[in-house]
Amino acid sequence: MARLLDVRGLHAQYGASRVLHGIDFGVEEGGITAILGANGAGKTTTLRAVCGMVKTRGEIAFAGGRIDGRATEGIVRLGVAHVPEGRGTFVELSVEENLRLGACTRRDKAEVAGDFERIYGYFPRLRERRRQQAGTLSGGEQQMLAVSRALMLRPRLMLLDEPSFGLAPRIVQELFEIFGEINRKDRVSMLLVEQNAALALRLADHAYLLETGRVVISGTADAVRSDEAVRRSYLGY
Ligand code: ATP
Repeated sequence: MARLLDVRGLHAQYGASRVLHGIDFGVEEGGITAILGANGAGKTTTLRAVCGMVKTRGEIAFAGGRIDGRATEGIVRLGVAHVPEGRGTFVELSVEENLRLGACTRRDKAEVAGDFERIYGYFPRLRERRRQQAGTLSGGEQQMLAVSRALMLRPRLMLLDEPSFGLAPRIVQELFEIFGEINRKDRVSMLLVEQNAALALRLADHAYLLETGRVVISGTADAVRSDEAVRRSYLGY
């Protein structure tokens, strides 16, 4: 299958501090790739590199064209939506206002109304709370809102940074089922960063394990799941 995102020899640094040391990875068209690793391995930096938020070297191709070196805004317009760690919703605004902001770069205004319905279909709880201030939502609802706001861009690729962080297992389960649905129904490809390896490997088709800025294991999710070292260190059995 063709790769929607194809990254080769990616280096990234903050000032003089080098964080990624030449990593290769990709996301297939319609696929879900997981990037796993411990705290500080460089997972968040990898997502920030894809959307032009950190200084990089190497090749990043999206939908066949190079995006490395482009401004974040231009990358977003191509259809890459980033759901950052910590969610990044506008806490003072209502659910509906947050979603409207998510669509503010779109020209097809007539279709935006339909997208509200589609998103409320995935997350009925957001419909019930559409006039509520985002800051007063539960953690799970805020994560749903952050994902929904990204979906309002009609992205081809969604970058999800640690979406399970701080949420109860039941909510995480629900959220990940909906990610699968969004991927299948709307053909949104996903690059998912997770510390919860078991969870990520259930959703993903491919996975990469990062250790201190280098890919140490990669392959299909099934192959990575059955890797002895992954099982011992990340799956706990
Ligand atoms: P976590 O799961 O803890 O978020 P991570 O795998 O996402 O970890 P990164 O956040 O990408 O890791 O961080 C990788 C390394 O880069 C860490 O050593 C971190 O201290 C460093 N780093 C991250 N952001 C910055 C920054 N803005 N300036 C300098 N160093 C940074």
